[in-house]
Amino acid sequence: MSGRVILAGSGPGDPGLMTIAAARAVTVADVILHDHLIPQDVLLTARPDAELIDVGKIGGGRQVPQQETERLILEHARAGKCVLRLKGGDPFVFGRGGEEAQLCRDNDIPFTVIPGVTAGVAAPAYAGIPVTQRGMAAGVAFMTGHEAPDKAAAQANWAAVAGFPGTLVYYMGVKSLRNIASVMIAEGRPSDQPAAVIERATFPDQRTLHGTLSTIAELAEGAGVKSPAIVVLGDVAALGEELAWRQGGPLADVSVVVTRPKAQASDLAGMLRDQGARVIEAAVIKPEPLPFSLPSELHAFDLIVFSSPNGVRAFFSALHAHGRDARALAAAQIAAIGPGTTDALQAFGITADLVPARAVGESLAELLAGRPTEAALVVRARGGRTVISDALIAAGTPRVEVLEPYVTVHEQLDERTAARVLEADWATLTSASSVRALCAAAGGADVLRTSGLKLASIGPITTAELSSHGLTAAVEATEHTPAGLVSALLRAV
Ligand code: SAH
Repeated sequence: MSGRVILAGSGPGDPGLMTIAAARAVTVADVILHDHLIPQDVLLTARPDAELIDVGKIGGGRQVPQQETERLILEHARAGKCVLRLKGGDPFVFGRGGEEAQLCRDNDIPFTVIPGVTAGVAAPAYAGIPVTQRGMAAGVAFMTGHEAPDKAAAQANWAAVAGFPGTLVYYMGVKSLRNIASVMIAEGRPSDQPAAVIERATFPDQRTLHGTLSTIAELAEGAGVKSPAIVVLGDVAALGEELAWRQGGPLADVSVVVTRPKAQASDLAGMLRDQGARVIEAAVIKPEPLPFSLPSELHAFDLIVFSSPNGVRAFFSALHAHGRDARALAAAQIAAIGPGTTDALQAFGITADLVPARAVGESLAELLAGRPTEAALVVRARGGRTVISDALIAAGTPRVEVLEPYVTVHEQLDERTAARVLEADWATLTSASSVRALCAAAGGADVLRTSGLKLASIGPITTAELSSHGLTAAVEATEHTPAGLVSALLRAV
């Protein structure tokens, strides 16, 4: 039995710009081969048994080779599956959708195409730029910046491109913007022609820069514009300055540094972006796994305490490696320090029994010390705070064992990220170790103090660590969670 393939576009990022047909395809597909630049939330509506495969291509980053993507399409379609190939924007606009359609045709696999809202139209629209306009631009041309003008490609007819009587919209043009602009000027496009760059269009942290053909490359470099971005060259670009309509949210134009490690940054970064903030991800700490072994008699513990999501994940992967699962913890009460840890436990089928009202070690210690325990196992980072084990010992618990599956280490920042950090409006600090690491990455607490960077602390321990470096928390979260930190920031700006 042959399956079928749906080649669909998801639009440029705002989930609202996905077509009804594409959204429906997500709910019926057996296998979804998706790009990186798709609204991630739409995948939540996939069937629970659907196989989701990220074949994303992030500019400059990991790339699943096209050949491999095509192999996966064929393999699953031949197995009789309904394969959804979900791409950012429109599948036939710089999306290699045409090649994938040819692949299906060559292999007698039935396919359908669901067009999408392409970034070349949506990005300008979200920046208030109509790509055509009576009396201003009688046409629009979509160009790729990948085949940017250079000496090797001198045979290309750049004069014809420059002479196009309408708007030029460049995809994938960030890296070659300087080149594109100078060749267009050399080939006769007026150097004072309006130009715009729209970065992460339709996302909450969309950014638009306005300039002219001669200034736009410099402006984009200065602002650190990154892919994905659309470049608009033509008189219509100036209309964006009067027609910009998008409200940016309460944190619009506020740049916020997130110092958490990548795996944990996403929830905080995502929540900040939802409020319109420009997020600078600068992971100054990362968890490094340590060799450890699980106590052989887990059932001997009547209390197991988890003080971080990392600890939970490390613990359960060790447990699974031994062919065991959550049932090994059946004899124990499970304590978690706060919502992040509770969520991590939930992912392994455990609902924590004991969670303090305030997500700090002292509150959990207080909660635990007040109840009788025979044998406790405390899972935490090496070098982390000892308040919980100390409190259990002080309360006379006969047996307290500590398991340290990881240690938090400092990460260097590359020069450019470090500079962006110091220029930002706010930095979020989510632990005492992130404070120490940020000081180290910035070249000392003094550098931070004089930078004008305002510091937002997740709670009292983090605030105390800031004070010990002579730094002041401009705000402290009342609820000691990433969401609490975002609320505190919203109150402060
Ligand atoms: N098929 C896609 C284009 C894929 S090529 C479409 O029709 O939109 C990838 C390029 O698309 C990026 O380099 C960038 O130039 C552009 N792009 C995609 N999403 C974008 C977004 N949200 N904001 C700005 N540009 C975007």
